[in-house]
Amino acid sequence: MNNKVGRILIIGSGLAGSCLALELLERGQDILLIDNQFENSSSRVAAGLLNPIVPKGVRKTWQCDILFPALFSYYRRWEQRLNTHFIDSYPFLNIHANEGESLEWEKRVLDPEMEDWLRRGDESAYAFLTQEPATWVNHCGRLDVSTFLQSVQDHLTQRNQYRIEQFHHDDCAKTKDGWRYAGEFYDAVVFCEGIGLLNNPWFNDLFMDPTGGDILKVHIPNIGSNPMIIKQKQWLVPTHEADVYLLGSNFHKNNLSTEPEQKDAEALLARAAQITGQTVTLLAHRRAIRPTVQQRRPYLGEHHTEKGLFVFNGLGAKGSSLCAWLSPMMAENIVNHVPLDAEVDIQRFT
Ligand SMILES: Cc1cc2nc3c(=O)[nH]c(=O)nc-3n(C[C@H](O)[C@H](O)[C@H](O)COP(=O)(O)OP(=O)(O)OC[C@H]3O[C@@H](n4cnc5c(N)ncnc54)[C@H](O)[C@@H]3O)c2cc1C
Repeated sequence: MNNKVGRILIIGSGLAGSCLALELLERGQDILLIDNQFENSSSRVAAGLLNPIVPKGVRKTWQCDILFPALFSYYRRWEQRLNTHFIDSYPFLNIHANEGESLEWEKRVLDPEMEDWLRRGDESAYAFLTQEPATWVNHCGRLDVSTFLQSVQDHLTQRNQYRIEQFHHDDCAKTKDGWRYAGEFYDAVVFCEGIGLLNNPWFNDLFMDPTGGDILKVHIPNIGSNPMIIKQKQWLVPTHEADVYLLGSNFHKNNLSTEPEQKDAEALLARAAQITGQTVTLLAHRRAIRPTVQQRRPYLGEHHTEKGLFVFNGLGAKGSSLCAWLSPMMAENIVNHVPLDAEVDIQRFT
């Protein structure tokens, strides 16, 4: 489109579609966002934890050095534009589960590569909680995903650029210059459907390995007046309500159900009680499916034959941090044909 004003249809207002909509608006594009409001979508259930460390091997997450320095300023910019609050930075305490884990983290804390990311000390800040060895992880926080999505939806609704409806792929047809859907013409259609990709006739050849996960909202009194994220395998993330935390998560392979099961709640509640030594009261239990993909590398780009059809998907368990990097990249690709990062470009499969 080379920076001309294009008419762009986006399917799905999860993290991918919502961030992309803002980026395209900023580039002067005329957009319409359609979403079916599935209440247990990945983004509507996600905790929004922003954590730069992968526990296995105590490594930096993929693209950490690109993602995290810009992450908070990215969402704060949208907070200002949308006049809403949805991003918080919190101290993150990783309590070691056993001696082996302690040794591994101790070694990594001393590695110069991790200097900016891990730190020891401030034991008094968590002595009330545990006597176990623990490490602080820097640059962490939480995106309140539901609030963010709702503020984007409200913003677009005011501009008449948001519709609540099911998108039917069969009704989307190619024309001489682009694509037609429900009697309107578009230069591009961008699919940000999460696991809805499985039903997409143009992109369902992209391998998806969906992974279910549970999140509980819990009440835990007396775990400190300074809010912090606490992790020992499972994590507790503060919310804006006093003594109310999000507790998660787990991984259900090969199970697309979003129906919560009591046994999962019981297991997570028992873990939280063990970590905090407090009485943990269940307030809510939800389950959703992460759009997890092969080798954890997202899927971005234009269809190899059907020009004008794009995909933005495969954010897996890291949508909140990945979107800050990938959404501007996707928008620049659609509007100005700027090449995508080779690791995320779906051209890697052709
Ligand atoms: C339990 C759990 C915990 C998580 N915790 C975190 C976390 O702490 N930190 C983090 O970064 N990530 C987390 N994630 C992952 C994160 O939620 C995902 O990476 C992200 O939400 C994916 O966003 P998306 O926009 O690609 O997909 P989705 O959120 O699935 O959005 C797709 C949207 O498209 C709509 N849609 C699909 N098909 C159609 C159609 N045909 N017509 C109309 N609308 C349609 C859906 O209803 C939905 O609204 C978690 C996920 C789960 C399940």
